[in-house]
Amino acid sequence: MVVKEKITQLKTWLGKQPKTLKQGISALLVLGLVVGGFSIAKAQNACAVEVNGQVVAIVEDKVQAEKVVNWLMKENQAKGSNVKPLQSITYQTTQKDNSLISEEELKQILAEQLTFEATASGIKVNNGLKVAVKDKTTAEKVLEELKNEYKVGPEFNVDFREKVDIVSVPVETSKILSLEDALSRLKGENGVPRYHTVKEGETLWEIANKFNISPEELQDENPDFTPERMQIGQKIKMVGAAEPLLNVEATVEKTVKEETSLPQQIKKNANLPFGQSRVVQKPENGLKEVTYKIVAVNGLEIERQVLNVNVIKEAKPQIVERSAQTVVASRGARPSGAIISPFGQRSGRMHTGVDLAKAYGSPVGSYNSGRVIRADWYGAYGKCVDVDHGSGVVTRYAHLSTINVKVGQTVDKGQSIGNVGSTGRSTGPHLHFEVIVNGVPRNPVGYI
Ligand SMILES: [Zn+2]
Repeated sequence: MVVKEKITQLKTWLGKQPKTLKQGISALLVLGLVVGGFSIAKAQNACAVEVNGQVVAIVEDKVQAEKVVNWLMKENQAKGSNVKPLQSITYQTTQKDNSLISEEELKQILAEQLTFEATASGIKVNNGLKVAVKDKTTAEKVLEELKNEYKVGPEFNVDFREKVDIVSVPVETSKILSLEDALSRLKGENGVPRYHTVKEGETLWEIANKFNISPEELQDENPDFTPERMQIGQKIKMVGAAEPLLNVEATVEKTVKEETSLPQQIKKNANLPFGQSRVVQKPENGLKEVTYKIVAVNGLEIERQVLNVNVIKEAKPQIVERSAQTVVASRGARPSGAIISPFGQRSGRMHTGVDLAKAYGSPVGSYNSGRVIRADWYGAYGKCVDVDHGSGVVTRYAHLSTINVKVGQTVDKGQSIGNVGSTGRSTGPHLHFEVIVNGVPRNPVGYI
């Protein structure tokens, strides 16, 4: 109203002025209106941000929008090089209305709408891309750490079982992993738990071995599961047992000196009175030099091959003569624990005893009364105790963590001779129990 009145007044005033002045003032007036109008229109403009041609937000101006996009780019640059968004981002001038959002809100919207791609270093296993990390240095570090972790010992040579390549690949930045995450992905950690379906003839021990876990861990993960009642087709949950994507093999050739001994020999002597016996040959330990090739995969020994045996000194057995009228030996009691691996052929080799599920550290009782004839490390058996019960019966307790007896000592039935462990060729705590009759391992089930 007021403006209109002023213009009318101005026109009236102009009417009274000479023509040239009139024209000049008219031109000024038009210019003023144009400039004024333009500045009003400009103040009402805003910037529409489009992702793949779709408006996702309206902000104050393009400068602000570009600032936010750059901020997101910068954040993604930490993950790889040549970062670029996979969507097109365009800006359109638009009418300002009340849908205008703040910089913070735009950040949130764009972070959701945009995916960024970067050039990263991918680790390929047998030509398949498994993980991607920021750069080549990080990829090399991941592989080196994996090797170091499974080196087993300083004298071992380590290598990957699979073909491994580091390649430069474009990857979505959300899929580029940190060193730690890449390492655990390759190791098969954080995997989806898997189930194993029991097949005919499989033992708990074999299943545990196959998945690189101890029978105890399997039991913990499956509390309702009873090894004795394992059935074909039964599903067993595997613990953290996603397949490793990359396997480290550590090998070494090692020569060690090992003591050897022979089982006691019993000879019947009809001339000896009832119940009497006498030692006719004292036992002597032998000594041999054994060269092993040891292979460990992902830190677990899977193979111990004897490459060479050099006997330095032959062992002599203890020979005992016993009255032909022997006393009937009392029946022994085998150590407790479920049988997780039976006596007999096991993956192409003879399993000369039974493996009993027992917790690490639990005491091991002697099968029967007798005399300790071995109480020491014994090659693949680890810490091992042999007890001679007479009548040609010797029992063996292997993979012990501690030994509580000494050679020559007599023990009572059930007396603790040591504690369960995982020494020697063993992938988890258990008791390997053997019954040796006249030097030949027998199925302990027949004696218990
Ligand atoms: Zn065994």
